Amino acid sequence: MQLKILGTQSPYNTAGHNCPGFLITDEDAKLMLDCGSGSHRMLNYPQDLENLNVILTHLHRDHYNDIYNLQYASFVFHNQGRVIKPVQVYMPATPPEIYKDISGEDNAYCEYSEIHKDRTLTVGKINITFLPVTHPMETYAVKISDGKSTIVYTSDTSWLSNQDISAFAKDADILISEASLLVSDGFPEVNSHLTAKQAALIAKQAGVKKLIITHFWPEKAPQQFVDEAKEYFENTFAANEGDIYDL
Ligand SMILES: [Zn+2]
Ligand SMILES: [Zn+2]
Repeated sequence: MQLKILGTQSPYNTAGHNCPGFLITDEDAKLMLDCGSGSHRMLNYPQDLENLNVILTHLHRDHYNDIYNLQYASFVFHNQGRVIKPVQVYMPATPPEIYKDISGEDNAYCEYSEIHKDRTLTVGKINITFLPVTHPMETYAVKISDGKSTIVYTSDTSWLSNQDISAFAKDADILISEASLLVSDGFPEVNSHLTAKQAALIAKQAGVKKLIITHFWPEKAPQQFVDEAKEYFENTFAANEGDIYDL
């Protein structure tokens, strides 16, 4: 499998930094995790639209804003005969008005279905499972495995889910964890997001090989989050647009 970082920032994109997005490829299988503001421009059109599967981990704008760009691109390229297979979009059923807004888009060449805790997806040789996590709306962590290597993505979550995520991510090769906050921000330990320290503690509890932290506040340097995390989990890296990890 190969992991490419498409977006690392929240709540808005700036020059060179997009909102959350990750592309996982394995031979012909293509999986995009989240489609945040600016992330879709990291795709190669039209070829990346063919056989593309998109998982929206929750329906907060920073994770789905670019699905509309992707939908329209798929519509136009399909009309030109350059994309044959509809893009598969998987997302939580709630909030229902957002699910309806995305899935009701006319100018799109996509098919839609719901994710839930018991759903398992198979994309090529990749097996995908979901874990509900604590966040102000229905949100899922995602586990991706090709039988040899495993990647787990926390999506957005809170410390309340630390034990569930640690068990879900047990011995994974890569844990991609949100780390929106720093301890020095002074927020309560249980928040709607994780600090870099909390992401590192989850990585340690899970015994993962590598931690990639992401979902950075635009006004802060990613290195600040890495410095905080490394005190608790040494093998930590900041997600960076365009970076590629081969597994
Ligand atoms: Zn969120
Ligand atoms: Zn977010």
